[in-house]
Amino acid sequence: MTVICWFRRVLRLDDHPALVAAAAAGPVIPLVILDPAEARARPASAQRQVMALPGLAEALAARGSRLVVRRGDPAAVLARVIRDSGARVVHASQGLPFARDDGLAAAVEGAGARLHLHPLADLVARGSVLTKGGTSFKVFTPFWRALRQADIAPPLPAPDLAAPDRWPDSDPPDWPEARAAMRRGWDVVARHVQAGEGTAQDRLDAFLGRIAGDYVQGRDRLAEGDTTSGLSDALAVGEISARRIWHRALDAQHQGRGGVEDFLRELAWREFSRELFHAAPDLDRACWRREWNGFTWRGDGPDADAWGQGRTGIAVVDAGMREMFVTGRMHNRVRMIAASFLVKHLMIDWRIGLDWFARCLTDWDAASNAVNWQWVAGCGPDASPFFRVFNPDTQAAKFDPGGHYRQYWLAPEAEGARQFAKAAPLSWRIDLAARPAPLMDLDTGRQDALSAYRDFAGRM
Ligand code: FAD
Repeated sequence: MTVICWFRRVLRLDDHPALVAAAAAGPVIPLVILDPAEARARPASAQRQVMALPGLAEALAARGSRLVVRRGDPAAVLARVIRDSGARVVHASQGLPFARDDGLAAAVEGAGARLHLHPLADLVARGSVLTKGGTSFKVFTPFWRALRQADIAPPLPAPDLAAPDRWPDSDPPDWPEARAAMRRGWDVVARHVQAGEGTAQDRLDAFLGRIAGDYVQGRDRLAEGDTTSGLSDALAVGEISARRIWHRALDAQHQGRGGVEDFLRELAWREFSRELFHAAPDLDRACWRREWNGFTWRGDGPDADAWGQGRTGIAVVDAGMREMFVTGRMHNRVRMIAASFLVKHLMIDWRIGLDWFARCLTDWDAASNAVNWQWVAGCGPDASPFFRVFNPDTQAAKFDPGGHYRQYWLAPEAEGARQFAKAAPLSWRIDLAARPAPLMDLDTGRQDALSAYRDFAGRM
């Protein structure tokens, strides 16, 4: 009997538990749903998903199958495709956060089918790596040690696929709502994206071919490309699985490559974020340390706008915000600096930063974004303490000593700055020749933030 496999942010054939289960059950209709609401909230991530579709369609065609794309609200689309196809079962991966899947099962059942949600092909099943007391880890290092001892299941090979007798109609693989919400033209970000399952695998191989003992130091250098895997966007849209990366990395380690252990540790941060999100599905809205929900952060306004538009006058922050707007990604170290400047120096609510990142990042990931923002703000589990305030200038001097990263995004004649000026909405009134004055003196801002945070912490 025909079954539907909903490719839900798992845009690959390799290591896809829902697809393997669907293929074992009968002829498969591979379905991707482009939800307008999702595109409006996270346009860059939506664009990144659309860019994965041609490769996915090709891979399916090579197996005698076909990709069906539908635009609309997922519950309504599923009900329609069930009716159009007569399928009685829908296989899909769980969503993130895990708790928000409830309405879907009801919609599928209402249309006369059953919904099977499969675990994401994460390194371990959620809740399977626990403290000796049987509770979930709240601190990264012990979690990492336990994960390193755990059995990481091998990735599942892509299954053979049988085609149904008739195919439901497909919409074009385009997401107009995302195009509109991008506010910078589709092509701006597209030229910085390398999409496709095969591309992700090649990228992984190339990275493991060059990774060396200084990966961890190289990771922090702002001006050097290719010091990290660059796989976060492929991971975020599911073109490659964490398990596939893990096992290939272990192979490379066995062959004597240095730096792999540190790389696995980064993947473990992703896993830890998911574990935390599983335990606290409101992690993207509420402070994990509940007492911090009482802190009076500043809200939206001119300072938040200046931050988002790369006009704070703090060079490394502005460079990072421009990088993200143009490329859909930002160097990890700069993410930390820019986020810290927003929540510490400017004392603006971390959720404003989280939402802006969610709009701009092609590697947006609900769990990683939330955990990292809470880490920087000091209100998350195992977070950076509130009294640690990055000095952006010191950070820039340390990690961009030649100033090349900042130059690339800020110098009026530099390629990055020119791309940004072309991409920015007119209302931002970007004048490359006029660098804005700093929003604040960094030392004064630091002292003000420290005393506000200290006052609050003292009253907790
Ligand atoms: P590599 O160094 O090659 O690392 C390999 C993989 O490990 C990454 O692809 C990623 O999946 C994972 N990883 C690495 N660092 C982290 C981390 N700190 N937390 C969780 N996973 C990590 N990453 C996202 O994927 N999506 C997000 O929405 C996101 N938001 C962030 C927000 C803030 C405020 C900060 C400080 C960090 C955020 N990160 C996010 C984490 C990190 O910046 C990116 O994962 C990293 O820059 C990706 O580059 P890479 O793939 O070359 O990393």
